[in-house]
Amino acid sequence: MTVHNKLIYIFTVFVLLSSTSTLKAQVTESDSTEVESDDENDENEGDFDANFTGYSDVTYWDLLRDPNFKFDPKIIPATQHYEGVDWDTITINPYKVSLKEMNDTILLALKDSFDCEFHPPAIGDISSNFGFRRWGRRPKFHYGVDVRMEVGDPVYAMFDGVVRVAKRSADYGYVVLIRHYNGLETLYAHFNQLLAYSGQPVRSGDIIGLAGSTGRSTGPHLHFEVRYKGEKIDPNKIVYFPSGSLLSDTLQIDKHCFSHLYQVKSVKLKSKYHIVKRGETLAKISYTYGMSVKHLAKLNRISLKTKLARGRRLRIK
Ligand SMILES: [Zn+2]
Repeated sequence: MTVHNKLIYIFTVFVLLSSTSTLKAQVTESDSTEVESDDENDENEGDFDANFTGYSDVTYWDLLRDPNFKFDPKIIPATQHYEGVDWDTITINPYKVSLKEMNDTILLALKDSFDCEFHPPAIGDISSNFGFRRWGRRPKFHYGVDVRMEVGDPVYAMFDGVVRVAKRSADYGYVVLIRHYNGLETLYAHFNQLLAYSGQPVRSGDIIGLAGSTGRSTGPHLHFEVRYKGEKIDPNKIVYFPSGSLLSDTLQIDKHCFSHLYQVKSVKLKSKYHIVKRGETLAKISYTYGMSVKHLAKLNRISLKTKLARGRRLRIK
Protein backbone atom coordinates (compact mmCIF):
# COMPACT_ATOMS: atom_id res chain seq x y z
CA MET A 1 0.00 0.00 0.00
CA THR A 2 1.30 3.46 -0.81
CA VAL A 3 1.56 5.95 1.99
CA HIS A 4 -1.33 7.89 0.51
CA ASN A 5 -3.61 4.84 0.37
CA LYS A 6 -2.57 3.87 3.84
CA LEU A 7 -3.57 7.33 5.05
CA ILE A 8 -6.97 7.09 3.43
CA TYR A 9 -7.48 3.56 4.72
CA ILE A 10 -6.63 4.37 8.31
CA PHE A 11 -8.62 7.56 8.26
CA THR A 12 -11.67 5.72 6.91
CA VAL A 13 -11.43 3.02 9.56
CA PHE A 14 -10.99 5.70 12.12
CA VAL A 15 -14.09 7.63 11.00
CA LEU A 16 -16.15 4.44 10.92
CA LEU A 17 -15.02 3.49 14.39
CA SER A 18 -15.80 6.89 15.81
CA SER A 19 -19.26 7.17 17.19
CA THR A 20 -21.27 9.50 15.01
CA SER A 21 -23.63 10.36 17.83
CA THR A 22 -20.96 12.39 19.61
CA LEU A 23 -20.30 14.30 16.42
CA LYS A 24 -23.96 15.07 15.95
CA ALA A 25 -24.32 16.24 19.52
CA GLN A 26 -21.49 18.67 18.96
CA VAL A 27 -22.97 20.03 15.79
CA THR A 28 -26.35 20.78 17.30
CA GLU A 29 -24.83 22.47 20.29
CA SER A 30 -22.45 24.68 18.43
CA ASP A 31 -24.60 27.05 16.54
CA SER A 32 -22.28 29.82 17.58
CA THR A 33 -19.73 30.86 14.99
CA GLU A 34 -16.74 29.95 17.09
CA VAL A 35 -15.74 30.11 20.68
CA GLU A 36 -12.10 29.27 20.32
CA SER A 37 -9.77 30.85 22.73
CA ASP A 38 -12.55 32.16 24.80
CA ASP A 39 -11.74 34.20 27.87
CA GLU A 40 -12.10 31.28 30.22
CA ASN A 41 -11.83 28.17 28.15
CA ASP A 42 -8.14 27.52 28.40
CA GLU A 43 -9.19 24.31 30.10
CA ASN A 44 -10.99 23.24 26.92
CA GLU A 45 -7.93 23.78 24.83
CA GLY A 46 -6.27 20.72 26.25
CA ASP A 47 -9.17 18.53 25.22
CA PHE A 48 -8.86 16.04 22.51
CA ASP A 49 -11.99 15.52 20.57
CA ALA A 50 -13.70 12.69 22.44
CA ASN A 51 -13.67 10.59 19.29
CA PHE A 52 -9.93 10.65 19.07
CA THR A 53 -8.81 9.76 22.55
CA GLY A 54 -9.48 6.05 22.21
CA TYR A 55 -7.32 5.80 19.13
CA SER A 56 -4.36 7.86 20.15
CA ASP A 57 -1.96 5.05 19.18
CA VAL A 58 -2.46 5.59 15.48
CA THR A 59 -3.93 8.84 14.37
CA TYR A 60 -4.47 10.29 10.96
CA TRP A 61 -1.87 13.03 11.30
CA ASP A 62 0.67 10.78 13.00
CA LEU A 63 1.01 9.11 9.64
CA LEU A 64 2.40 12.29 8.16
CA ARG A 65 5.65 11.58 9.84
CA ASP A 66 8.17 8.89 9.36
CA PRO A 67 7.25 6.01 11.70
CA ASN A 68 10.85 5.98 12.89
CA PHE A 69 10.68 9.65 13.82
CA LYS A 70 12.26 10.31 17.18
CA PHE A 71 11.96 13.73 18.71
CA ASP A 72 15.32 15.20 19.63
CA PRO A 73 14.94 17.30 22.81
CA LYS A 74 18.10 19.20 21.88
CA ILE A 75 16.14 21.09 19.21
CA ILE A 76 13.56 22.62 21.57
CA PRO A 77 13.50 26.34 20.71
CA ALA A 78 13.66 29.30 23.08
CA THR A 79 14.31 27.23 26.20
CA GLN A 80 15.61 30.35 27.96
CA HIS A 81 12.03 31.73 27.93
CA TYR A 82 10.33 28.49 28.91
CA GLU A 83 12.60 27.11 31.60
CA GLY A 84 11.08 24.66 34.03
CA VAL A 85 8.14 23.66 31.82
CA ASP A 86 8.28 20.40 29.92
CA TRP A 87 7.85 20.29 26.17
CA ASP A 88 4.12 19.56 26.08
CA THR A 89 2.67 18.19 22.86
CA ILE A 90 -0.96 18.17 24.00
CA THR A 91 -1.73 21.18 26.17
CA ILE A 92 -1.86 24.44 24.28
CA ASN A 93 -1.02 26.52 27.34
CA PRO A 94 0.92 24.48 29.89
CA TYR A 95 2.62 27.60 31.31
CA LYS A 96 -0.19 29.08 33.35
CA VAL A 97 1.53 32.37 34.04
CA SER A 98 -0.05 35.77 34.23
CA LEU A 99 1.91 38.51 32.54
CA LYS A 100 -0.45 41.41 32.98
CA GLU A 101 1.57 42.62 35.95
CA MET A 102 5.00 41.74 34.64
CA ASN A 103 7.64 44.24 35.66
CA ASP A 104 10.29 43.43 33.12
CA THR A 105 10.52 44.52 29.56
CA ILE A 106 11.70 41.88 27.14
CA LEU A 107 12.91 42.69 23.69
CA LEU A 108 12.53 39.82 21.24
CA ALA A 109 14.47 39.76 18.01
CA LEU A 110 11.68 38.46 15.81
CA LYS A 111 13.73 37.99 12.73
CA ASP A 112 17.35 37.47 12.07
CA SER A 113 19.14 36.00 9.15
CA PHE A 114 20.53 33.18 11.27
CA ASP A 115 17.58 31.15 12.49
CA CYS A 116 14.43 33.19 12.22
CA GLU A 117 13.04 34.37 8.93
CA PHE A 118 9.48 35.70 8.54
CA HIS A 119 6.53 34.68 6.38
CA PRO A 120 2.92 35.85 6.87
CA PRO A 121 0.66 33.00 8.08
CA ALA A 122 -1.85 33.90 5.38
CA ILE A 123 -2.75 36.90 3.32
CA GLY A 124 -6.37 37.90 3.17
CA ASP A 125 -9.13 40.02 4.60
CA ILE A 126 -9.51 40.04 8.33
CA SER A 127 -13.03 38.87 9.11
CA SER A 128 -12.71 39.24 12.86
CA ASN A 129 -10.00 41.08 14.74
CA PHE A 130 -8.30 40.76 18.11
CA GLY A 131 -10.54 42.31 20.73
CA PHE A 132 -14.06 42.27 22.08
CA ARG A 133 -16.86 41.24 19.80
CA ARG A 134 -20.55 40.75 20.36
CA TRP A 135 -21.99 37.28 20.87
CA GLY A 136 -25.68 37.97 21.05
CA ARG A 137 -25.85 40.13 24.13
CA ARG A 138 -22.56 38.98 25.46
CA PRO A 139 -19.31 40.76 24.65
CA LYS A 140 -16.57 38.18 24.33
CA PHE A 141 -12.90 38.62 23.82
CA HIS A 142 -11.48 37.21 20.61
CA TYR A 143 -7.81 36.41 21.20
CA GLY A 144 -6.75 36.06 17.61
CA VAL A 145 -7.14 37.38 14.13
CA ASP A 146 -9.45 35.61 11.69
CA VAL A 147 -8.34 35.68 8.08
CA ARG A 148 -10.95 34.82 5.50
CA MET A 149 -9.88 31.81 3.41
CA GLU A 150 -11.15 29.24 0.96
CA VAL A 151 -11.11 25.58 1.98
CA GLY A 152 -7.73 24.17 1.00
CA ASP A 153 -5.81 27.46 0.98
CA PRO A 154 -2.29 26.95 2.30
CA VAL A 155 -1.33 28.28 5.72
CA TYR A 156 2.31 29.02 6.50
CA ALA A 157 4.57 28.86 9.53
CA MET A 158 5.31 32.47 10.47
CA PHE A 159 8.86 32.02 11.78
CA ASP A 160 11.32 29.18 12.06
CA GLY A 161 10.67 26.83 14.93
CA VAL A 162 9.42 23.43 16.00
CA VAL A 163 5.79 22.27 15.99
CA ARG A 164 4.82 21.68 19.60
CA VAL A 165 1.14 20.74 19.16
CA ALA A 166 -0.66 19.35 16.11
CA LYS A 167 -3.99 17.81 17.01
CA ARG A 168 -7.72 18.10 16.82
CA SER A 169 -9.51 19.95 19.61
CA ALA A 170 -13.21 20.56 20.08
CA ASP A 171 -12.98 24.33 19.74
CA TYR A 172 -9.98 24.89 17.50
CA GLY A 173 -10.62 21.92 15.21
CA TYR A 174 -7.38 20.82 13.57
CA VAL A 175 -4.83 23.08 15.15
CA VAL A 176 -1.08 23.64 14.98
CA LEU A 177 1.02 25.45 17.55
CA ILE A 178 4.64 26.27 16.82
CA ARG A 179 7.36 27.31 19.27
CA HIS A 180 9.72 29.70 17.55
CA TYR A 181 13.38 30.38 18.19
CA ASN A 182 12.54 34.04 18.84
CA GLY A 183 10.54 33.08 21.97
CA LEU A 184 7.02 33.45 20.59
CA GLU A 185 4.50 30.71 19.97
CA THR A 186 1.97 30.97 17.14
CA LEU A 187 -1.28 29.06 16.80
CA TYR A 188 -3.22 28.27 13.62
CA ALA A 189 -6.73 26.83 13.91
CA HIS A 190 -9.68 25.32 12.00
CA PHE A 191 -7.60 23.52 9.37
CA ASN A 192 -9.29 21.24 6.92
CA GLN A 193 -6.12 19.21 6.84
CA LEU A 194 -3.04 19.14 9.02
CA LEU A 195 0.28 19.00 7.26
CA ALA A 196 2.45 19.13 10.34
CA TYR A 197 3.22 16.89 13.28
CA SER A 198 4.47 17.63 16.73
CA GLY A 199 8.24 17.65 16.95
CA GLN A 200 8.60 18.71 13.33
CA PRO A 201 11.16 21.44 12.71
CA VAL A 202 9.71 24.08 10.39
CA ARG A 203 11.08 27.04 8.48
CA SER A 204 9.07 30.20 8.01
CA GLY A 205 6.94 29.78 4.92
CA ASP A 206 6.54 26.01 5.27
CA ILE A 207 2.95 24.95 4.66
CA ILE A 208 1.65 23.50 7.94
CA GLY A 209 -1.97 22.88 6.97
CA LEU A 210 -4.79 23.65 4.59
CA ALA A 211 -7.46 26.10 5.66
CA GLY A 212 -10.90 24.86 6.60
CA SER A 213 -13.68 25.19 9.12
CA THR A 214 -13.17 22.39 11.66
CA GLY A 215 -14.00 22.92 15.33
CA ARG A 216 -16.31 25.72 16.37
CA SER A 217 -16.45 27.68 13.20
CA THR A 218 -19.14 28.37 10.63
CA GLY A 219 -17.09 29.18 7.59
CA PRO A 220 -13.58 28.59 6.29
CA HIS A 221 -11.03 30.88 7.88
CA LEU A 222 -7.71 30.86 9.65
CA HIS A 223 -7.84 31.73 13.32
CA PHE A 224 -4.36 32.94 14.15
CA GLU A 225 -2.87 33.69 17.58
CA VAL A 226 0.46 34.94 18.85
CA ARG A 227 1.45 33.89 22.34
CA TYR A 228 4.28 34.50 24.74
CA LYS A 229 4.43 32.02 27.63
CA GLY A 230 0.84 31.11 26.82
CA GLU A 231 -0.49 34.68 27.07
CA LYS A 232 -1.98 36.05 23.88
CA ILE A 233 -0.66 39.15 22.18
CA ASP A 234 -2.43 41.13 19.47
CA PRO A 235 -1.02 39.76 16.18
CA ASN A 236 -1.51 43.23 14.66
CA LYS A 237 1.45 44.36 16.75
CA ILE A 238 3.61 42.12 14.60
CA VAL A 239 2.04 41.68 11.19
CA TYR A 240 0.36 44.18 8.90
CA PHE A 241 -2.20 41.73 7.52
CA PRO A 242 -3.41 43.55 4.39
CA SER A 243 0.04 43.23 2.83
CA GLY A 244 1.36 40.42 5.00
CA SER A 245 4.44 42.30 6.08
CA LEU A 246 6.38 42.26 9.33
CA LEU A 247 6.02 45.59 11.14
CA SER A 248 9.34 45.47 12.93
CA ASP A 249 12.27 43.13 13.38
CA THR A 250 11.85 43.38 17.14
CA LEU A 251 8.96 43.11 19.55
CA GLN A 252 8.93 44.68 22.96
CA ILE A 253 7.03 42.60 25.50
CA ASP A 254 5.87 44.29 28.65
CA LYS A 255 2.69 44.48 30.71
CA HIS A 256 1.03 46.76 28.14
CA CYS A 257 0.88 43.83 25.72
CA PHE A 258 -1.55 42.19 28.12
CA SER A 259 -3.62 45.14 29.30
CA HIS A 260 -6.68 43.69 27.50
CA LEU A 261 -6.82 41.10 30.28
CA TYR A 262 -8.07 43.78 32.68
CA GLN A 263 -11.01 44.50 30.38
CA VAL A 264 -11.74 40.78 30.04
CA LYS A 265 -11.79 40.43 33.80
CA SER A 266 -14.19 43.32 34.34
CA VAL A 267 -16.64 41.90 31.80
CA LYS A 268 -16.37 38.48 33.40
CA LEU A 269 -17.22 39.92 36.81
CA LYS A 270 -20.48 41.27 35.43
CA SER A 271 -21.57 37.86 34.14
CA LYS A 272 -23.26 35.12 36.17
CA TYR A 273 -23.42 31.43 35.42
CA HIS A 274 -25.41 28.34 36.29
CA ILE A 275 -23.88 24.87 36.27
CA VAL A 276 -26.36 22.38 34.82
CA LYS A 277 -27.38 19.61 37.21
CA ARG A 278 -28.63 16.19 36.21
CA GLY A 279 -32.04 16.25 34.50
CA GLU A 280 -32.24 20.03 34.21
CA THR A 281 -33.73 21.49 31.06
CA LEU A 282 -33.58 24.95 29.56
CA ALA A 283 -37.20 25.46 30.61
CA LYS A 284 -36.51 24.56 34.20
CA ILE A 285 -33.42 26.73 34.47
CA SER A 286 -35.07 29.72 32.84
CA TYR A 287 -38.01 29.37 35.26
CA THR A 288 -35.63 29.32 38.23
CA TYR A 289 -34.05 32.58 37.17
CA GLY A 290 -37.30 34.19 36.06
CA MET A 291 -36.33 34.59 32.44
CA SER A 292 -37.78 33.32 29.18
CA VAL A 293 -36.38 30.16 27.60
CA LYS A 294 -35.75 32.13 24.45
CA HIS A 295 -33.70 34.72 26.28
CA LEU A 296 -31.65 32.05 28.05
CA ALA A 297 -30.97 30.25 24.75
CA LYS A 298 -29.97 33.49 23.05
CA LEU A 299 -27.66 34.49 25.88
CA ASN A 300 -25.83 31.20 25.45
CA ARG A 301 -26.09 31.09 21.68
CA ILE A 302 -27.72 27.68 21.70
CA SER A 303 -30.91 26.44 20.12
CA LEU A 304 -34.08 25.77 22.12
CA LYS A 305 -33.65 22.08 21.40
CA THR A 306 -30.11 21.85 22.76
CA LYS A 307 -29.72 18.98 25.19
CA LEU A 308 -27.89 20.14 28.26
CA ALA A 309 -25.06 18.00 29.51
CA ARG A 310 -24.57 17.85 33.24
CA GLY A 311 -21.83 20.23 34.33
CA ARG A 312 -22.31 22.59 31.41
CA ARG A 313 -21.95 26.25 32.27
CA LEU A 314 -24.86 28.42 31.20
CA ARG A 315 -24.74 32.14 31.33
CA ILE A 316 -27.72 33.55 33.17
CA LYS A 317 -26.64 37.19 33.34
ZN1 LIG B 1 -11.05 33.41 15.52
